[in-house]
Amino acid sequence: MAKCEVCGNDYGMTFEVRAQGAVHVFDCFSCAIHRMAPVCENCKVSIIGQGVEAEGMFYCGAHCAREQGKAGIVDHV
Ligand SMILES: [Zn+2]
Ligand SMILES: [Zn+2]
Repeated sequence: MAKCEVCGNDYGMTFEVRAQGAVHVFDCFSCAIHRMAPVCENCKVSIIGQGVEAEGMFYCGAHCAREQGKAGIVDHV
């Protein structure tokens, strides 16, 4: 059985996530989120959902992008 690459749990129901050509193995979504989710540059929250990207930085929302001085960014609707 595959092991979760975050916590090392050897679990029968692991699942794979393919991202950017690499395959990651996790036992649960919280581990997957821990490994995969980008972190908001402003408030350091894990971005689960669309978030916004500005100049190569990820933010949880337009509010945080604006806090960092990225003007003209709006949330995805
Ligand atoms: Zn895990
Ligand atoms: Zn944020």
